[in-house]
Amino acid sequence: MCGIVGYVGKHKAASILLEGLKRLEYRGYDSAGIAVLQGGRFNVAKKVGRVEALVREAAKFTFTGKTGICHTRWATHGGVTDANAHPHVSSDGKLVLVHNGVIENYVSIKKFLLSKDYTFKSETDTEVLCNLIAYHYAKEPVSDSRSRFFESVRKALLHIEGTYGIAVMCVDFPDEIVAARKGSPLLLGVGDNEFILASDASALVSRTRNVVYLKDGELVHVTKDEFSITTVDQAEVSPVVDQITWSIKDAELNGYAHFMEKEIFEQPAALENAMRGRFSEDGSTAQFGGLNLTAADFRVIDRYCFTSCGTAWHACLVAEHLIERFARIPVEVDYASEFRYRNAPLDRDVLFFVVSQSGETIDTLAALREAKRKGYKVMAICNVVGSTIARESDGGIYQHAGPEIGVASTKAFTSQLLIVAMFALYVARMRDMSYADGASYVQGLRAVPELVRKTLEQAPHIKEIASRYAKYNDFLFLGRLSLFPIALEGALKLKEISYIHAEGYPAAEMKHGPIALINEECPSVFFVPKGDIFNKIVSSMQEIKARKGKIIAIVTEGCELPAGLADDVITIPECHDAALPIISCIPVQLLSYYIAVARGCDVDKPRNLAKSVTVE
Ligand code: GLU
Repeated sequence: MCGIVGYVGKHKAASILLEGLKRLEYRGYDSAGIAVLQGGRFNVAKKVGRVEALVREAAKFTFTGKTGICHTRWATHGGVTDANAHPHVSSDGKLVLVHNGVIENYVSIKKFLLSKDYTFKSETDTEVLCNLIAYHYAKEPVSDSRSRFFESVRKALLHIEGTYGIAVMCVDFPDEIVAARKGSPLLLGVGDNEFILASDASALVSRTRNVVYLKDGELVHVTKDEFSITTVDQAEVSPVVDQITWSIKDAELNGYAHFMEKEIFEQPAALENAMRGRFSEDGSTAQFGGLNLTAADFRVIDRYCFTSCGTAWHACLVAEHLIERFARIPVEVDYASEFRYRNAPLDRDVLFFVVSQSGETIDTLAALREAKRKGYKVMAICNVVGSTIARESDGGIYQHAGPEIGVASTKAFTSQLLIVAMFALYVARMRDMSYADGASYVQGLRAVPELVRKTLEQAPHIKEIASRYAKYNDFLFLGRLSLFPIALEGALKLKEISYIHAEGYPAAEMKHGPIALINEECPSVFFVPKGDIFNKIVSSMQEIKARKGKIIAIVTEGCELPAGLADDVITIPECHDAALPIISCIPVQLLSYYIAVARGCDVDKPRNLAKSVTVE
């Protein structure tokens, strides 16, 4: 949530900053702003709305400076107004700051600063931090001028409770930025005689692939020639420069109308990447390089606890189903935001898994830390390499799905589903699953990219269905067993991008309440896979039909539904049970996408949402 970019280098900063900010817009789009230091003063432009609105506003200015910061906001404290947009300038005019996160103790600090005659123009917690740095800057001895700016930021941060990724400029130090992070992501791109700070790599990958990922509690002091990293407690840090493996092309639309559409169609490739090199030579189990645990370590695990948020939480529910079914090991699934506060009683031999596309989700990170504090080992399933969750976990599995820009997760979700299916196989083969069953499971997963490709061919048919259903304002998604989480995911996708009220339920539970919603105006999407409970699901469909509810059925190829039961049918290819959630998810992704487009919604920037939720 919220994107920050900072630039110090030999080029004019403004166009580089705005270009980077456009690429971060998916992280927040309430308002945007830029500050460039030139001629001994800050030039600041800010505007409610998208980065495009800021670009128009910025065209009224002449930005010539080579040091600058900018921000796209997802408001937490204070409404969506120009005054609350970042950057914020301290009331003495000395400092300017952009911030991602929440300053929890801003009320008491603001009271203190008001008593010292600092004034405020916005309602934000961010402006409080800016003035607190100004307060410390005014107190710092001028003689030690090289570190005066840096020290004022460091000292202010010692008083801060909450989370922050910040970039700060000082009017007296024209070629410098001080940046810091705690709980919000920040990385430094090391370019050719230039440095770029950003909330994520997409903002800087067009200029450099060399990056330093800042850790919580670290500050970086960037000048036009060099940078140094120190902790808030003044410990020197030796920076590690990592390489970004993907290119700017991966983060562009490449002819698609929306990132969500592009990412839906990228799924075969993303799934191939998730499984590459991860099946054993004998083709009967999975193998993972990064778990940092031996087979013997896994043998003694009697329970898994999966914790996450949002769409990734649905992947955890699928993990529960697959691990319990195939490996016969109990799995608990918890919302990360609840786990961190509910002090759950836990067995001794529990292994934790956290799942987060960005690897920065603050609630998931807090759950990881809580589990580690209790002495448990935590594995992470993340897409973003080098992210905080990936770094702080004891081991894990990278998704290799490529950058996901669409706010509504698609390819990252199905790649999580594939990884948990592979993990279920890995532990199942250590227990009772035979070589033959393992081999057919592997065959089933290897077929997934091709089966997804085949399912995607139904896009025109699903688009046509979507055009007829886009007018409805309530939907039910009904699925059983491993498809109950996919029913939840289908409902979530529709809510997120179409603003349609939708609920996911186990199909048989529908008669215990939600059936009261059914009439001609509330359609149901049913998952009707081939298998033991096919007839049970057909009975649930009959109950809906008897009440004049419209039905879209997602049915396995070759399965016959009673004539007239479904109003519309989407067929999916037959597949292994472990692959069923992945294949079944494709039609509901397409359905929600095309419904959102038909309703004229801004698919990639849905209202009130932002990608990578880095505030609590
Ligand atoms: N808390 C700050 C605000 O509301 C920063 C929010 C953000 O991360 O965008 O302005």
